[in-house]
Amino acid sequence: MELHLPATPRRFEMFIDGCSVSGPSSADIVRQSPAHGVPVSVYQSGTAREVDAAVAAARRAFDHGDWPRVGGAGRAAVLLRAATLIREHREELAIVETLESGKPITQSRGEVENAAGMWEYAAGVARVLHGDSFNNLDGGLFGIVVREPIGVVGIITPWNFPFFILAERLPFVLAAGCTAVLKPSEFTSGTTVMMAGLLKTAGLPDGVVNVVTGYGDPAGQAITEHRDVDMVSFTGSTAVGRSTLIASARNIKKVGLELGGKNPQLVFADADLDAAADGVLFGVCFNAGQCCVSGSRLLAERSIAGPLADRIVELARKVRVGDPLEENTQVGAIVNEKQMGRILGYIEQGQQAGARLLCGGARRPGTGLFVEPTVFSGVEEGMSIATDEIFGPVLCIQPFDTFEEGLALANRTQYGLSATVWTSNLDTAIRASREVKAGRVWVNTTITGGPEMPIGGFKQSGIGRETGLYGVDEYTEIKSVQIQLGGRQRWVRE
Ligand code: NAD
Repeated sequence: MELHLPATPRRFEMFIDGCSVSGPSSADIVRQSPAHGVPVSVYQSGTAREVDAAVAAARRAFDHGDWPRVGGAGRAAVLLRAATLIREHREELAIVETLESGKPITQSRGEVENAAGMWEYAAGVARVLHGDSFNNLDGGLFGIVVREPIGVVGIITPWNFPFFILAERLPFVLAAGCTAVLKPSEFTSGTTVMMAGLLKTAGLPDGVVNVVTGYGDPAGQAITEHRDVDMVSFTGSTAVGRSTLIASARNIKKVGLELGGKNPQLVFADADLDAAADGVLFGVCFNAGQCCVSGSRLLAERSIAGPLADRIVELARKVRVGDPLEENTQVGAIVNEKQMGRILGYIEQGQQAGARLLCGGARRPGTGLFVEPTVFSGVEEGMSIATDEIFGPVLCIQPFDTFEEGLALANRTQYGLSATVWTSNLDTAIRASREVKAGRVWVNTTITGGPEMPIGGFKQSGIGRETGLYGVDEYTEIKSVQIQLGGRQRWVRE
């Protein structure tokens, strides 16, 4: 099926207390498709006023509404209906995602499908959430550990996987019985607003999910500082994550952070090199490298580093970069001019620092923000391309001689989000998985998983976990109840 650009941009209102709400129209945000350079969406630019209204609605829904009080079965029914509605609107959601983000349509469809899976899984989680009991306490005490929803959760999301990252958080927040205020990225807000509408159709009570669109400052900032927000789940850059942590100190709210990465791909000499080359290339090109778990550092055992680099370059030249509305496209557009400038700036710094450019390195001429898959060898420690998160399809190759050296190199970074290991030796695979400091490790594959598996970062890549049973725990408070059986021993002796 041939897809076309919209004749006029689609307008998205904010969503507060079950209703569509307009912001100050003088400050609309017009989003251009980064692949086509035409306006595709218009969002409202929310301010602290809309955040106040959204938080008040979420607060009312939490303190006095049904959602935190309804049983797991009731919550699960709404989450399952939401998953069905996502599938029914799959194509519409995927097209909006592609137009706003620039990612290939096939990838958007896959993300929407996987997002539906997240909602289904979370429906199950709503029914298995439980506490604990202690029948072994001294002094005739009986102990009950109760799990309660944490309250109003602010969810701030980035532009790289808008619908999927939302699905890694919101259904778990709802499964726990919390209410939410969402602040999507100002570049890709469409599908988050659409999700709020689908949730209303699915039967979610008004006020449980609210969406304030707009810029990080003021809209995101107002959420992180808000005294009536109990927790913030922030996904984005390490720099803004740090400021979120500081702003949250105002009312000591709980903070979940999913931040950046500079993720190693460790390839040992005994690996299937053809499979590794393909996997490494996918790992750095997926979503045009604008991926928090992008495998942007290739650490290769010295004896195979040369042939592996040759194979990756050969494959890189075959990757289909271009119009994300085309079914065959594998790598779409860079999200905006600023991000394109950042990527090209790093490529220039790499060349100036003496790294060898093996392929790519340039912006494609013409309309749209496209950059070729880029590979550098001769990368030395201390070069900015070796240490900084570039967030583009730029691979840096560094050789290592021993297992210990490879692992030390992998861990020599402020980040700890993910790591990939390529080897045919089980011992090497397990030892490397144990020793690498990262929240997600892949062996002989990369960037895959499922709603069952927790995600999150070590070191400056974040705090807390999302998805799986570990993820839903983050949105609950633990209360311990001690009950005296058989009467309490008297304190005052008469
Ligand atoms: P960003 O930090 O610029 O923005 C993320 C979100 O925060 C946006 O909604 C933005 O509007 C908002 N924001 C900006 N300033 C704010 C402020 N002062 N207070 C509150 N909110 C504010 O990140 P981005 O450019 O949208 O995304 C790219 C970054 O996200 C990369 O560093 C990437 O590694 C990271 N990321 C991490 C994960 C993960 O799971 N670890 C996933 C995706 C992206």
